[in-house]
Amino acid sequence: MTQEIRCDSLWYGADIVTMRAGKYHIIEDGALAVTDGRLAWLGARDELPVVHSIQTTDFGGGIITPGLIDCHTHLVFGGDRSDEFEQRLQGVSYAEIAARGGGILSTVRATRAASQQQLFDSALQRLQTLLAEGVTTLEIKSGYGLDEASELKILRVIRQLGQQVEADIRATCLAAHAIPPEFAQRPDDWISLICTRLLPRIKAESLADAVDAFCEHLALSPHQVERVFHAASQLGLPVKVHAEQLSAQGGSRLAARYRALSADHLEYATPQDALAMAQNGTVAVLLPGACYLLRETQKPPVDAFRQYGVPIAIASDANPGTSPALSLRLMLNMACMLFHLTPEEALAGVTTHAARALGLQDSHGTLERGKVANFVHWPLTRPAELVYWLGGQLPCTVIYQGIPREESLYPK
Ligand SMILES: [Zn+2]
Repeated sequence: MTQEIRCDSLWYGADIVTMRAGKYHIIEDGALAVTDGRLAWLGARDELPVVHSIQTTDFGGGIITPGLIDCHTHLVFGGDRSDEFEQRLQGVSYAEIAARGGGILSTVRATRAASQQQLFDSALQRLQTLLAEGVTTLEIKSGYGLDEASELKILRVIRQLGQQVEADIRATCLAAHAIPPEFAQRPDDWISLICTRLLPRIKAESLADAVDAFCEHLALSPHQVERVFHAASQLGLPVKVHAEQLSAQGGSRLAARYRALSADHLEYATPQDALAMAQNGTVAVLLPGACYLLRETQKPPVDAFRQYGVPIAIASDANPGTSPALSLRLMLNMACMLFHLTPEEALAGVTTHAARALGLQDSHGTLERGKVANFVHWPLTRPAELVYWLGGQLPCTVIYQGIPREESLYPK
C-alpha cells in the first residue's frame, strides 16, 4: 500500500536521536515531516512515503536531537552576586557575608527595587544565552521577591518572556523559597499569606504552572512545606520541591506523597526517598552546578534512582548565588563527572525526563509522531559529543515548532 503525506516541511540527511524511553534509539539517515508544528512522520529515509511538502531541507550529515529542556532555573532576579563570589574566594565566610546583608537577601533587595522592565531585560539576556545552545523549553521560578507584589511582578516577567521568545517557558511560583526578613519573628504568617492570598491570586490570573518550596533547615520546615503543598493541591496546581540539598529533611518523600512533578537537588536523599519517588512518579532533578559551586562532597543516590526506576533529569539551576550557570551542556558534562551518569542518561535528563519534570511528557522531550516539532540539528557524529565538549557553543540549527529559530528569535 502506498502511503502519502502532505506536510509543511520535510527534513532529512541526518541521524535522528529520538531519546524514546530515555535511550538514544537512533534512526540512521532519518527523515522528519512536520505539519502544524507537530511531527507528522519520522523514520528511516528509505522508508519515507510519498511526500508533498511545501519546504524541504537536506542537512547533509550530522545528528538531530529533541530540543533541550532546562527544567529548573531562577533566571529572573535583580543584581548579581559576583562580589560575594570574589569575597568568599578571598576567605570571607558565608556567616560574615550574611551579617553584611549579603546572600539571598541581597538578591531580594535588588529584585524588589527593580522595575518589571529591568527584570525582563536582564533575564532576557541570560535566557537567550541558554536558548542558543539548543534549548527550546525552559522553566523559570519566582522566589526572589518574597512579598506579594514582588512575587507577582516576577511571575508576570516570566509570562512576558514566554510571549517574547521562541521557546516554551513554564512558570513556577517559589514564594516558599525563604522566610522574608519582615516575617523573621512570625514565619508561619508568611506561609499563611502564600496559602490564602498569593496562590489563589496566581491561580486566578494563570501566572504559574506549578508551585515549588525549599525544604531545608535554613528555609522552610517540612510542616511549612506541607501547608503550601496542601493549598496548591486544593487549587489544582502541581507541586515540586527543593529537597535534601544540605541535609536530610524528608522533603522529597513529603513531595512524593503529593505526587510532585519533581524533587530537586537530592544530595542527601536516601534509598527510601528514591522508592517513594518511584512509587509516585516523581522525577529526580539533579543540579550539578550548585553541587560544584558549594564544593559539596555528598552526592545524590544515583544507584538507588536507577534501581527503583526514578527518572533522572539534569538542569542548570541558573541563579545568582549557588549556580550562576548559563550553559545546560556544561551541566551534562558535570552530571557525568560529578554524579557518574552516562552520556545517554545525561541526555535523557535534558530531554525526555526533563519534559516529565514539567508535566510535558505527552508533547515534549522525545522525537515521536504527534509531538511538538522542537528539534536541533548538530553537525556532529555522535550524541555523546554534546556531553563531551566542556562548554563553548557548538554550531546548531534550532527548529522550534517546525520553524528554524534564527529567523524568529533575533528579528532583523
Ligand atoms: Zn533552585
